[in-house]
Amino acid sequence: MTNRITELFGSKVFNDAVMRERLTEETYNKLHRTIKNGTELNPEIAQEVANAMKEWAVENGATHFTHWFHPLSGATAEKHESFISTAGGGSVILEFSPSNLVKGEADASSFPSGGLRDTFEARGYTAWDPTSYAFIKDGILCIPTVFISYSGEALDHKTPLLRSMEALNTQAKRILHFFGNDDVDHVKATAGAEQEYFLVDKKLYDKREDLILTGRTLIGAPAPKGQEMNDHYYGQIKVRVLEFMHDLNEELWKLGIQAKTEHNEVAPSQHELANIFMTINVSVDQNNLTMEIMKKVAKKHQLECLLHEKPFARINGSGKHNNWSLKTDTGVNLLDPGETPGENAQFLIFLCAIIKAVDEYQDLIRISIASAGNDHRLGGSEAPPAIVSIFLGDELTEIIESIENDSVIVGHKREPFQLGVHALPSFPKDNTDRNRTSPFAFTGNKFEFRMPGSSASIATPNTILNTVVAEELKYFADRLENCEDVNSGIQDLIKETIRNHKRIIFNGNGYDESWISEAESRGLSNYRSTPEALAHYLDKKNVDVFVNNGVLSEQECRSRYEIYLEKYSKTINIEARTLADMMKKDVLPAVLKYENRLCEAVEHERRLNLESGYSESTLKELLKHMDGIRKNVGELERQLGDLPADSLERAFCFRENILPLMASIREDADELEVICNRTFWPMPTYRELLFGVD
Ligand code: ADP
Ligand code: MG
Repeated sequence: MTNRITELFGSKVFNDAVMRERLTEETYNKLHRTIKNGTELNPEIAQEVANAMKEWAVENGATHFTHWFHPLSGATAEKHESFISTAGGGSVILEFSPSNLVKGEADASSFPSGGLRDTFEARGYTAWDPTSYAFIKDGILCIPTVFISYSGEALDHKTPLLRSMEALNTQAKRILHFFGNDDVDHVKATAGAEQEYFLVDKKLYDKREDLILTGRTLIGAPAPKGQEMNDHYYGQIKVRVLEFMHDLNEELWKLGIQAKTEHNEVAPSQHELANIFMTINVSVDQNNLTMEIMKKVAKKHQLECLLHEKPFARINGSGKHNNWSLKTDTGVNLLDPGETPGENAQFLIFLCAIIKAVDEYQDLIRISIASAGNDHRLGGSEAPPAIVSIFLGDELTEIIESIENDSVIVGHKREPFQLGVHALPSFPKDNTDRNRTSPFAFTGNKFEFRMPGSSASIATPNTILNTVVAEELKYFADRLENCEDVNSGIQDLIKETIRNHKRIIFNGNGYDESWISEAESRGLSNYRSTPEALAHYLDKKNVDVFVNNGVLSEQECRSRYEIYLEKYSKTINIEARTLADMMKKDVLPAVLKYENRLCEAVEHERRLNLESGYSESTLKELLKHMDGIRKNVGELERQLGDLPADSLERAFCFRENILPLMASIREDADELEVICNRTFWPMPTYRELLFGVD
């Protein structure tokens, strides 16, 4: 088995080993440098790289190639082109020119541009991100690329991510310089994603219009059993699911993705998969690929993989924990406290930059994970609330508070703590992650950001994390460059940061009601919904942080703002229309049949002078809920035809008017499901969906 795994692992990836084997030493070295430094591919070597890549791909069964990118619509995009080129005399040759590798044209007009298209050319181009390896998927050579407009505006998730990595690298190195670490060539953020998902039987899925069109159930009464027994979490995995996981692992391993842990989650039919962390852009690509492969492999097992944040009401939804840290090319994890006083001081500076960043840019961090789907989870006592706060653990909090108060116990005496001179009192690392209710938790040598939704790419939250931390590191570095004594400068920065930003640190229970008022009294923001959060995206300080760090221009910010709002409104619009459709075409006609049956029973009973309250009262209940649905669907359709033109107003209208109407319709429909004879109900129920995989 071990041999087979090592053989399988990365077998579909044009990785370092393949490059070394197939390129001349000179080209390999140049390419390796490009990858390490994150620079553009040198055109001189493009021909040889393209040739080697094509030959390797063809030998491994590929017939086509595609630039693989992440447009702002959310899904990954590909446009397949075959290697075939005519060679005259009716014969063909397989060709893949260096320009195919470096630059590809894509008509940008069908992808969301949020207004950029009006002012710029419709054409866009894609260009290889050589730091993410090319791979073969379904016989297609996929080349990970960025997607930009002809005038250079980012049209994808990856471009700003790469720019944010560069900003972070620049500022982190400036900080390392003060600690004498000039041997560091590069600092890169690392990320490891834990992906939650549901598996349902494909045949049942195919009978639910809501699952097919919206990814979640829009109606459904609770099953008699939910997650209250806690018997699913870490429970024994069912055979069919095990077979799925086995296949999934193999497919991921072939693509060089280190799928590591897998287990059952809290809700029935819910599972989790964690990949081993990587440099952030690679991790983003790998998580996107993982989601795609999950869906594909599920189908092979007659299953459907649901990645939506809230596929079922009243039981847990799915999130994606994003573990984030900083690593130097010399192999040091900058969020590891270390053991010597020098390492400790350096760790504290990075920690403080993060504390300051998360406090000052809480709104951007909240925005980075905002979506119609995720709104159903945040604050629902299954996921952190919409309030951003940091968990440091009692020990670390005590340490930084005592630095603030100059009251560290050194040896046996209480005295001012001298950074770089005294070592931090040690704190048990394994004790740092007892609190699972925090949105942003320090877990020993990394932060775990627990707010992202399960279906979204982790590109945006990581871009924003990188950017805001880079901003604070820049502020710190500027200050240190201008102070006479660096040591006391560092000490001052740490004290000042803790004093000014400790309101963001919260070690208590994030699911507790009392935290909401406590957070409010601390002045922390609590944007409960996507429109409320997005209303702050273009606040001056937010646009400034993107512009000043070279991550997004003001115009790019505006375009993203429009795209995010549009996506929110479109998502709910589709849900609302699907719900109306299901009511008119499935639920009401089915219940009508049952109503007829009940009418017959009532008549029958009357004729025979029988006294049965059952048929009559059931009939009345039925009519009441049917009428409720009829009225609300009418009102829903009326409102959908009369939406405000302004994108923010429209999003608020979906949030404040459309969603409550949908909830009322659902209430009546769920009551009907409870009353209605099982054989009349027109679609699979929660019991079948959640307990249908054996
Ligand atoms: P838990 O269930 O306790 O949250 P898991 O073991 O399921 O943790 O997942 C931890 C995740 O954190 C994995 O994806 C792992 O690769 C990742 N991780 C570990 N160290 C780092 C790091 N330095 N930077 C980023 N991610 C990391
Ligand atoms: Mg976790």
